[in-house]
Amino acid sequence: MKWFFFVETCYLYATKKVFLMELYTQNQLKIYNSLSKSKELFKPVTEGRVGMYVCGPTVYSNVHLGNVRTFMSFDMVFRYLLHLGYKVRYVRNITDAGHLESDAEEGEDKIAKKARLEEIEPMEVVQRYTVDFHTVTQKYNFLPPSIEPTATGHIVEQIEMIKEIMDKGLAYEVNGSVYFDVLKYNEEGNNYGILSGRNVEDAINNTRALDGQLEKKNPQDFALWKRADERHIMRWPSPWSDGFPGWHLECSVMSSKYLGDQIDIHGGGMDLKFPHHECEIAQSHACSGVQPVNYWMHANMLLLNGQKMSKSTGNYILPDDILTGNPDAQYLGKRILSKAFGVGVVRFFIMQAHYRSILDFSNDALLASEKGFNRLMEAIDTLEGLKTSKTSTFDVSDWKQKCYDAMNDDFNSPILIANLFEAVKFINQIKDDKATITADDLVSLTTTLYTFVFDVLGLLNDAKEQSSDKLGGVVELLIKLRKEARENKDWALSDQIRDELLGLGIQLKDGREGTSYAIN
Ligand code: AMP
Ligand code: ZN
Repeated sequence: MKWFFFVETCYLYATKKVFLMELYTQNQLKIYNSLSKSKELFKPVTEGRVGMYVCGPTVYSNVHLGNVRTFMSFDMVFRYLLHLGYKVRYVRNITDAGHLESDAEEGEDKIAKKARLEEIEPMEVVQRYTVDFHTVTQKYNFLPPSIEPTATGHIVEQIEMIKEIMDKGLAYEVNGSVYFDVLKYNEEGNNYGILSGRNVEDAINNTRALDGQLEKKNPQDFALWKRADERHIMRWPSPWSDGFPGWHLECSVMSSKYLGDQIDIHGGGMDLKFPHHECEIAQSHACSGVQPVNYWMHANMLLLNGQKMSKSTGNYILPDDILTGNPDAQYLGKRILSKAFGVGVVRFFIMQAHYRSILDFSNDALLASEKGFNRLMEAIDTLEGLKTSKTSTFDVSDWKQKCYDAMNDDFNSPILIANLFEAVKFINQIKDDKATITADDLVSLTTTLYTFVFDVLGLLNDAKEQSSDKLGGVVELLIKLRKEARENKDWALSDQIRDELLGLGIQLKDGREGTSYAIN
């Protein structure tokens, strides 16, 4: 089978131009744009290239599975765009400057607070949780972004952007802090609220009237720069005060720096739509005069116990807990997980829901996903031994088109997975001599399955690796039992273990260092 795969790959590379043109014309990708609230045909600013920006994590604690879901949704988007042949520049930032929950909040930011509690430097907090985030993304088989800029690495650019907004008369300084003037921005014919649909009055009602608010001309104005009080450790000099940037500014700065004034796709979780993305639009538009983003994409939330997974409420599960089946992961004194699950199963579970739908996490849902995932992997393993015939009883090219149609319809991974299971059914029928397939169709079926399962959905067949780990564990256990049997001079049992393992193709070798084994 690998031979077929290789030949088709060579052929595709040789005819790459034709292949890409075919994909661009036959497969019209549509994306749901949160700005227009409709599905739109995807047309990048520059043909053949895509600029995509996704708001990254705030590195003050471990990412939970909810965060992972959002980043995995955009990993799938990135993978599919790459598969379509686009040259993608994918920028995902790291928020390491620390920000306040809102402008109204005084005192410490999240990173500084953690640093104080753990008695370490804020940058140690940042380092620790950036490493954790990278470890999780590697374990969960994410493709790395093209650029991963940090907020603290772009303070100079943020100060420059504030100056630009002030020069346009759309920001003002009070006591060393600088605020964006929302009413003035709207008076000039702009629309703060264009993304979230909130009008200015709504924005006022949703802003808490606490201390910091007194400095603002109007409550809906938001901070571009905040003067740091004496307790605030993360601070930088600026023309206005020693302070720190407002929490919406870094994304406007880093997206325009690396992707230009008008980018193709901007993504993030639904909860970032307001105020974060609304403010980003206002800042960027104030500087460039153009709509900064052509397609706004928002991923929906992962729930646990019927509520949004969230660190602050304690209603969360860590990505590592799932891989280890951590018994200490509990809710109201009850274990959340009955066992450990592999990365492939978790990715399959997440991909079974559309990225714009809410998804409920539970142990039962993971068990069900595990069954489905294993069926899919078994079918893929079966491909290698399938017999070919003169005719096919399944329309492979129609099925392949349906897979593309699903993904082209706003990355509809659940429909794609339903189509993949059509192929699973067919593969099992061929195995049972109830259906037939030609050699050409088998190549096409195999390459399409591999493409969607491994390249696009990013599933990992880690069950195989896990089972070899488990096998190793079992052999080690038998070696230990044999050693005990020999110590007890129970030669019959010791020989039985050695001989039966040999019968299974596992050879034990006794040496000075103990017993080792080889699997033949
Ligand atoms: P944060 O580090 O809080 O900025 O979050 C990083 C990303 O995870 C953002 O895009 C959030 O919208 C997203 N996120 C936070 N909680 C959840 C959740 N329960 N489900 C899905 N995405 C989430
Ligand atoms: Zn952002």
